[in-house]
Amino acid sequence: MEIFDVAVIGGGPAGSVCAAFCAASGLSVVLIERERFPREKVCGDCLNPECWPILRRLGIDQRVRVLSHGALDWVEFINVRDVHLRVDLPRGENAEIAIKRSAFDSILLQRAREFGTEVREAITLTSIEKSDGAWKLRTSEATAAFGARVLVGADGRNSTVARLLGLLPRIAKERVALQAHISLPRDFGNRVVLQLLPGGYSGQAPVNDTELNLCLVGRPKSIRALQHWATQYFNLGSTQTWRTITPLMRSALPPARENVLFVGDAARVVEPFTGEGIFYALRSGELAAAAAKEMIRGDAAEAVRNYAAQHAAMYGGRLWINALARSAVVSPKLGSILFEFARFQPALLGLLTRKIVRHPKAKSKHLVAKF
Ligand SMILES: Cc1cc2nc3c(=O)[nH]c(=O)nc-3n(C[C@H](O)[C@H](O)[C@H](O)COP(=O)(O)OP(=O)(O)OC[C@H]3O[C@@H](n4cnc5c(N)ncnc54)[C@H](O)[C@@H]3O)c2cc1C
Repeated sequence: MEIFDVAVIGGGPAGSVCAAFCAASGLSVVLIERERFPREKVCGDCLNPECWPILRRLGIDQRVRVLSHGALDWVEFINVRDVHLRVDLPRGENAEIAIKRSAFDSILLQRAREFGTEVREAITLTSIEKSDGAWKLRTSEATAAFGARVLVGADGRNSTVARLLGLLPRIAKERVALQAHISLPRDFGNRVVLQLLPGGYSGQAPVNDTELNLCLVGRPKSIRALQHWATQYFNLGSTQTWRTITPLMRSALPPARENVLFVGDAARVVEPFTGEGIFYALRSGELAAAAAKEMIRGDAAEAVRNYAAQHAAMYGGRLWINALARSAVVSPKLGSILFEFARFQPALLGLLTRKIVRHPKAKSKHLVAKF
């Protein structure tokens, strides 16, 4: 049986970055991805400025910049009574941008390949067992099983790795998201719109000169009404296609245990309203790569402790804003109260936004993965 140092399951941002850094540090890496890239994915497509330093460390920031994207100079909050509030976003080379996941994720996966990762696309992980201290993995491909010393679950919010290991948390009745790329309305401007609606909310961001990313989030019983609103508001045709995903939230997993690491959404899902998921995916992928190396070449127990601590520190001081945003979008009453408060205290809304959309230079402490 062929044995790799690391098997990464999932080739989204978390998995590709983890594989790229693992391979760059000399480990043998296989990455299993269910889809064939390029592929779209349900996402608002917004890249938090804190992604830039990680893309720089991977040596692909310039490649990302030259892709078609939308510049996001401000965020516009709109409440159910159509009152608008505007908060400016950082400008310059660390600005927030919106970029289609088909393009962005392909660059990351390609980078993992360039560093020597063996990428196997269009196959799905189907079984995991422990065998002689390594993981024995089988996939939907009718080839022999293969092994890995360290297993990385990077397979998103409905993680198969977590499910096969009996770790996937029970998912409560949750909300559902719909997403589409539609024609960019004239004069939309360089803004991301976060619009509260009866029964949910909508996020809108231009991803290039001709397309708008449109997301709708709501409970299953209100999602059709939201779709109807979007169809009328944006004058969409009856043939408009939508992608969908659920759940929007679930409990977090302990991100590390003996020879298993969880990264990105597989470890923790955050409310998408704040547009941070890709940053957490990239950063946890980077931290997990350092942990995988330590598991193989150093002290495995220490690696588990370090990764768990660094993973928690990554969310430190910012989860409460995400929880506040979630409460505001789930409870229309609270949403209205917070919106009214923000109308009369615009500085506070600016402060909260800047805590999420942080300019990387403004941050004093940044954990850098050790290689
Ligand atoms: C409505 C919505 C809007 C959002 N908007 C934003 C935003 O604007 N900005 C932002 O930063 N974040 C946003 N997010 C969050 C962001 O999309 C995620 O946090 C991010 O995609 C997580 O990356 P990941 O690599 O962990 O997982 P994913 O991107 O989900 O990648 C997981 C990969 O694993 C593969 N996979 C799954 N199962 C298997 C299997 N069994 N075998 C092999 N492969 C498998 C999948 O095909 C996929 O490619 C949004 C999320 C939602 C739902």
